[in-house]
Amino acid sequence: MMWGKSIINALKELDAVDLEGHYKLASGKHSNAYIDLRVGLPYPKFVKTLSWALRYAIVEFHYYYHQGTTRVPDLLVGLGNAGPLLAYVTTEYLRNNNDGRYEHLKSIWCVSDGETFKFPPKMPFAQLVDGAKVIIVDDLLTTGSSMRKVSEFLQSQGAEVLAGVVAVKRSKGVQESDCGVPVVLAASELTESIDTYEEDVCPLCAQRVPMRRGVAHNDEFLKAHPDFPSV
Ligand SMILES: [Zn+2]
Repeated sequence: MMWGKSIINALKELDAVDLEGHYKLASGKHSNAYIDLRVGLPYPKFVKTLSWALRYAIVEFHYYYHQGTTRVPDLLVGLGNAGPLLAYVTTEYLRNNNDGRYEHLKSIWCVSDGETFKFPPKMPFAQLVDGAKVIIVDDLLTTGSSMRKVSEFLQSQGAEVLAGVVAVKRSKGVQESDCGVPVVLAASELTESIDTYEEDVCPLCAQRVPMRRGVAHNDEFLKAHPDFPSV
């Protein structure tokens, strides 16, 4: 989708993306790409750029998957740190820009202890979710396991989960079956630029592409491989 370019530019402005490096990820895999959407969250302009792209992803989801039928969500549900902010701003764009189709849309969020998802304490969200059509919103899709867990939680609360919408998919290999729901990407161009490898077959290691110190899990790798070039 064309909005990926504006996301890449917004990330570059903040020095929050590198697509030509060598990084060790939390999963243990190596990658050419480093993306840190978190550095953008304090900036309303950045949050609005991502949300505008998410808004288009949601509208296109209806067009291609449901031919404009009544599969319009009642609720966006944000996950993690960025998801609630993005869901909130995206809801505002949808409510104001689409012929009134989304004028009933609301935005809530779920919290996680790393394993399970639930509603934030003391927030009256359960009544909004019961019987609602829901789209889950997150910034990054890494393995799909959070998406799957929250989707199961929302279904257990009476929701019909239509889809997950994320700004960026960190690995091309994540499939819909890993997520439990259809997943729509707002910045597919960015995902196309990301390659990930198992450490023992990493071509970047073979070419001894230097690792940047102090980001991702690079220091862990450099500690274990003291002779590896770094910058
Ligand atoms: Zn490597």
